[in-house]
Amino acid sequence: MVKDESGPKTQTRLVIRNIGLLLSGDLHNPILDADTVVAVEGKITAVGKEKDIDQEGATLVIDARGTTLAPGLIDSHVHPVAGDWTPRQNQIGWIDSYLHGGVTAMISAGEVHTPGRPKDVVGLKAMAIFAQRAFSAFRPGGVRIHAGAPVIEHGMVEEDFRDLAAAGVSMLGEVGLGSVKDGATAHQMVAWARKFGIQSTIHTGGPSIPGSSLIDKDIVLAADADVIGHINGGHTALPDDQIVTLCEKSPRALEVVHNGNERAALLTLRTAKELKQLDRVILGTDSPAGSGVQPLGILRMISMLSSLGEIPAETAVCFATGNTARIRNLDCGLITAGRAATFVMIDRAQHSAGKTVLESIQQGDLPGIGMVIIDGLVSAQRSRNTPPATLAPEIVKH
Ligand SMILES: [Zn+2]
Repeated sequence: MVKDESGPKTQTRLVIRNIGLLLSGDLHNPILDADTVVAVEGKITAVGKEKDIDQEGATLVIDARGTTLAPGLIDSHVHPVAGDWTPRQNQIGWIDSYLHGGVTAMISAGEVHTPGRPKDVVGLKAMAIFAQRAFSAFRPGGVRIHAGAPVIEHGMVEEDFRDLAAAGVSMLGEVGLGSVKDGATAHQMVAWARKFGIQSTIHTGGPSIPGSSLIDKDIVLAADADVIGHINGGHTALPDDQIVTLCEKSPRALEVVHNGNERAALLTLRTAKELKQLDRVILGTDSPAGSGVQPLGILRMISMLSSLGEIPAETAVCFATGNTARIRNLDCGLITAGRAATFVMIDRAQHSAGKTVLESIQQGDLPGIGMVIIDGLVSAQRSRNTPPATLAPEIVKH
């Protein structure tokens, strides 16, 4: 392909105007008093009132038609394998389907469903590096998949974590899914990982599928991984007193998943709220899994936690955006200058009893998605998976 280098390069400049409600993703200030967002080259440059914002030179203009703009949703717990295929339920195109559920970024908790997954140290390191490279280069529908998450096994030494970090691996798969299931070894390996900037997540609760095992509160506390993965079980949850102890005794992130125990999810939420530590709550699906793939899993968690957990909808959205971005060190998840121009645009679903989009979520309904934008580009328009949004944004210039 010949590159046209004649003439000045036009910057891509996105203007979204007529936003009816702007959700920031920031727990401490979840609703912004603004109706316009501008992004240049995929990064937000301005957020404010239309009359105060310079719209000159826009290459893409979107009329939000009074709908709601929020940061793209982040799924903190997925198990990808290769491309957009999962062998767990033998489905193709699952990631593209999640895009239609508002998910714009995913974090791998280990590529553990890979058929023939290597468990020797050289093999597991090679597979993690391969997954990191492959998913950095392949983005179905624009979705960013942070993958390459090795599952630790006995026999790994400090040098292995140094090698992994040097090769670009930035997180571990769920601790406990490999042969390391004791607190002392897990603690040592998590500490080595942390020393080289590799984040860690631990499996919490009973075994997910034959071959995995119970990880109780003592092992979780001893390992001290950065994220208490599926604290509400994946699917079998720990007893209530153990969940409360984890919330109280550990300072680490509390990850609540769709494919877990919903009652335990609500217990975690209530405990975090009492501790005034809602900033620790992050959401995942823990899918693909035995219970399938859930394109709307993160939306369903937002709605479930908001309606049954009595949390304002705008706060529940922060669990899947700003909180996760902060804990996972991502450049998306917040509507503020400098962040990725990655958005989901929603409206109340047609015929929801809720009068506004927030009220509809608080009543347990799902919002309808009208558009998804990733890094300043439209990745999807009216979702094929959500209930239809009452109003959808329109591209008025491109
Ligand atoms: Zn797990």
